[in-house]
Amino acid sequence: MNRPTKIVCVGRNYLEHARELGNQVPERPLLFLKPPSSIVREGEAIVLPAASDRVEHEGEIAVVIGRTARGVKAADAWDHVAGIAPLNDVTARDLQKTDGQWTRAKGFDTFCPIGATLPLAQVADRGALEVICRVNGQVRQHGRVSEMAFDIPMLIEYISGVMTLEPGDVIATGTPAGVGPLQPGDVVEVEIPGVGTLTNPVQAP
Ligand code: MG
Repeated sequence: MNRPTKIVCVGRNYLEHARELGNQVPERPLLFLKPPSSIVREGEAIVLPAASDRVEHEGEIAVVIGRTARGVKAADAWDHVAGIAPLNDVTARDLQKTDGQWTRAKGFDTFCPIGATLPLAQVADRGALEVICRVNGQVRQHGRVSEMAFDIPMLIEYISGVMTLEPGDVIATGTPAGVGPLQPGDVVEVEIPGVGTLTNPVQAP
């Protein structure tokens, strides 16, 4: 996979998750960015920053762009996708609330574990994709693409109408309900059944 020029994330794309944090699903996709410097890969540690007292997991389905996408219509969106990967949108929840802007809360080094990309041609059923997040083997989150407020083709149309998506760029499509804190020594897994599992240990500052 090319190193992404950007990681475009979607906030509050699952109704139950929006509700659990006291929010509503927005009228339009709510976008933010994570820096490429936050990426870690399979097995690498999520390092808890000293600046935060509450770092949480957000298991997500990531879409990896395969062809430059600018002003793409939803009907053509899948033509621009290389594949699907599990992703953890690690978030300093306390800083997200106090900062207002999410750049710091979402942007610490190690806050974007991404697993191996499964090529789209090998994804059995795009309409049945699910994501499961476990901490120390216990299921914390379980969501399905059918539960998204804005589905993947709509997200590609919306985002590519704002910014050009380059090959290797990543879209994190939002997290289902069940987000919760991470402690040093925890092991977090994000599994997309039929695609793969991403496993990362959690370390103290
Ligand atoms: Mg997220």
